[in-house]
Amino acid sequence: MRRSMSMGLAVLCLVICLAVTACGSPAAMRPPPAVPSAYLFHNVRVLYPDRAEAGPTTTVLVVDGVIAGVGVPDTGTLPEGTQEIDGAGRVLMPGLIDMHVHIFDEAGLAANLVHGVTTVRNLGGMPFHPGLARRIEAGRIAGPRLVSTGPIINERGGRNANPLQVLVDGADEARAEVRRQHRRGYRHLKVYSNLSRESFAAVLDEAAALGMSVSGHPVEGRPADPMEIGHTLLAGLATIEHAESIVWHGLDDNPDPAGMTRLAAEFAAAGATVSPTLVVHENLSRIVETRGAHLQRADMTGFNPVVAGFERDTYEFWTAYRNEDRTRMQGVYEEFTGALHAAGVRLVVGTDAGIMATPHGVSVLREMELLVRAGLTPHEALRAATVNAADVLGLADRLGRVEPGYRADLVLADADPRVDFQILRRPAGVMRDGVWYDAVALAELREAARQPGAWRTRRRLLMHFLLK
Ligand SMILES: [Zn+2]
Repeated sequence: MRRSMSMGLAVLCLVICLAVTACGSPAAMRPPPAVPSAYLFHNVRVLYPDRAEAGPTTTVLVVDGVIAGVGVPDTGTLPEGTQEIDGAGRVLMPGLIDMHVHIFDEAGLAANLVHGVTTVRNLGGMPFHPGLARRIEAGRIAGPRLVSTGPIINERGGRNANPLQVLVDGADEARAEVRRQHRRGYRHLKVYSNLSRESFAAVLDEAAALGMSVSGHPVEGRPADPMEIGHTLLAGLATIEHAESIVWHGLDDNPDPAGMTRLAAEFAAAGATVSPTLVVHENLSRIVETRGAHLQRADMTGFNPVVAGFERDTYEFWTAYRNEDRTRMQGVYEEFTGALHAAGVRLVVGTDAGIMATPHGVSVLREMELLVRAGLTPHEALRAATVNAADVLGLADRLGRVEPGYRADLVLADADPRVDFQILRRPAGVMRDGVWYDAVALAELREAARQPGAWRTRRRLLMHFLLK
């Protein structure tokens, strides 16, 4: 988000100094549990994305990480060694997808899994992300499916430039950067607000030629350019991030309802998909309202201390802030999100988890609650975190549904989460690509989620700064 990325050069130097003297790293997280190739869930009520009620109790068969059948009564034909799981009438639902995270460490992966988040899209690639994604896919480390954009692309001299971004100067450098990210294995790009019009056009053109998707903030151009959002809409981004940014760039923060309705209609006409990330701004407004006490809440246990160190100035700024405009604007962002929904704009769940006092996993549950407050039904909020997100990722035929042929990314919940999303703070079990995490395995993961690796994070940031 706009205000969260102010990291000074001094802090950067300190990080580098600390990192080059670092040695060793905390014990690596446990690999996933050993995997039988087949599971049969009995007595589960399947949650379908097109039905507001969970189905009657049935059975679900998973073979080699894929849902092989729903309602398979004949246990005589099961593959040898099938592990049977009695759901005891619980709800079996697709794993959740967070479309906007920042992963710095394996603890963040664990925090997602234990809340039923089985896919994340990292919007700010660093050199370790492609390898980490491969290790997760190979089953060497427990974590959600990790999709990552390349490093954030912004223009040199932009107002919001920060050390995590790659800064380009003009269209030629922008094209070269897209090609470089493609060579490094990235297939998704993230653009930031101060890309010049020419550089933005170059990124879009090069991305189209290479078959890469582009997501990001509304691109306003250089600080001197007039603020308008039309060319971001015309760009056809996979997702446009942050209701906060859209209200700023599209309405100059003016909460006039007619203006919101008009802008929402423009988004609908453009076929845009929006990730409102209401939860990250709510956390900021809560820091203001509680004079910083919100930073000490229990859910912040496990928040990466290196990131918190980077953001200390930001936290201090908002803790000392004495204006109610943040609370008021939170209401505006929710109202605008409601206007988008009413206009028929597709929404996905994104959180900005990993930065700005927004922890992984639990923030997905809160974002769904905030989408409901904005005017979605709980069912629609859940679709935003499952089928809508899967579709944006180009994985609609593999993720987001409990149906034959889909990957076995599943959550076993004690009750229908559409009654209370907080039930997913403690799922009875989570399956990620056919790997089953029962209550014991989830307890271990919960412990891992509380122990981020500070040195590992510093090393990774150093590599990013050296190689980006
Ligand atoms: Zn972000």
